[in-house]
Amino acid sequence: REPHAPPQLAEPMIRCTECGVHAPKSDSVVVAGQPFCSAAHAQRHGARPTGRDAR
Ligand SMILES: [Zn+2]
Repeated sequence: REPHAPPQLAEPMIRCTECGVHAPKSDSVVVAGQPFCSAAHAQRHGARPTGRDAR
């Protein structure tokens, strides 16, 4: 008697740092400790010039 079917675990969700949408963790991308819903958003967020704005 072995349960072959894995139990339906509630998948952990993350919140995209870029757009704020909730996405399953397995479908997310984590860059620099920050979760994103997709690699595109991770790149967009990373591409944003931070701390380089002229005063
Ligand atoms: Zn996003």
